[in-house]
Amino acid sequence: MPYKKHPVIILGGGPAGACTAMYLLRRGIKPVIVERDAFPRYHVGESLTGATALALKELGLGPAIEAQNYPVKHGANFYGPDGKNDFWVPLVRRDENENQVPNYTWNVLRSTFDKVLFDAALERGAEWIKATAVAPISKDDAVIGLTIRTPGGAAENLHSDVLIDASGCATFLANHRVTGPKIPGNSDKQIALFTLFAGGIRDNGPELSKQPGNTVLFYQRKHHWAWFIPVTDELTSVGVVFRT
Ligand SMILES: Cc1cc2nc3c(=O)[nH]c(=O)nc-3n(C[C@H](O)[C@H](O)[C@H](O)COP(=O)(O)OP(=O)(O)OC[C@H]3O[C@@H](n4cnc5c(N)ncnc54)[C@H](O)[C@@H]3O)c2cc1C
Repeated sequence: MPYKKHPVIILGGGPAGACTAMYLLRRGIKPVIVERDAFPRYHVGESLTGATALALKELGLGPAIEAQNYPVKHGANFYGPDGKNDFWVPLVRRDENENQVPNYTWNVLRSTFDKVLFDAALERGAEWIKATAVAPISKDDAVIGLTIRTPGGAAENLHSDVLIDASGCATFLANHRVTGPKIPGNSDKQIALFTLFAGGIRDNGPELSKQPGNTVLFYQRKHHWAWFIPVTDELTSVGVVFRT
């Protein structure tokens, strides 16, 4: 098999992989991203945190995200069972005097959002190898690379000084027993059913808590809840979560 060596291979070109690539490029390290899918591609996970927005702006991605016109999220409204125990959680950040001040983030359509980040990583100098990672390559208890399968079906070995696992829920290295066993938590016993819904009716008041881009969560009891996340002017991500 052909032999290639890279300083850093990032497995996965989702938000974690793309942002890691951009941070490495800032330090003069040119990473290779191994990603099997072409973007845009569907993905769940649309309601960004305030910290994510701050990180994206810090990476210089604010204008590119703003250009997508995603709904602006000022916080989340929680609705309890039987119309009781509703509450509003605003997004805040610390200012230079450590005071809490209002913050905002975005609710995003992941297909376009992930493409914005991935394209930015490539524009800044990351290299994309479109392939599926099949197995880590180990030597003397260290991971020294990846075996990949290209879209044409060929197997190739890629060698690197560092391999970063940004494969998301696929947890590639854990599943290959490289990083130790996965320890199931309470969330492991939950199932989510979700889709994108066109034309949902949204809040529209003057207060921050009534802005149309906010996240709305409904909780029934522990591990039983639902979400309503506006992701474009037209589309809303809706999902229900329950226990297995
Ligand atoms: C039901 C549900 C709801 C969620 N809601 C939210 C939310 O509202 N807000 C929020 O912040 N988060 C949410 N999340 C979590 C969010 O989806 C993830 O945290 C986020 O997608 C992680 O990004 P990532 O870049 O680590 O992984 P991903 O976005 O999953 O990217 C991993 C990439 O790795 C690639 N990959 C994986 N294996 C291989 C392989 N073997 N070879 C090549 N490529 C590979 C995949 O194609 C993919 O593009 C939710 C998750 C779930 C399951």
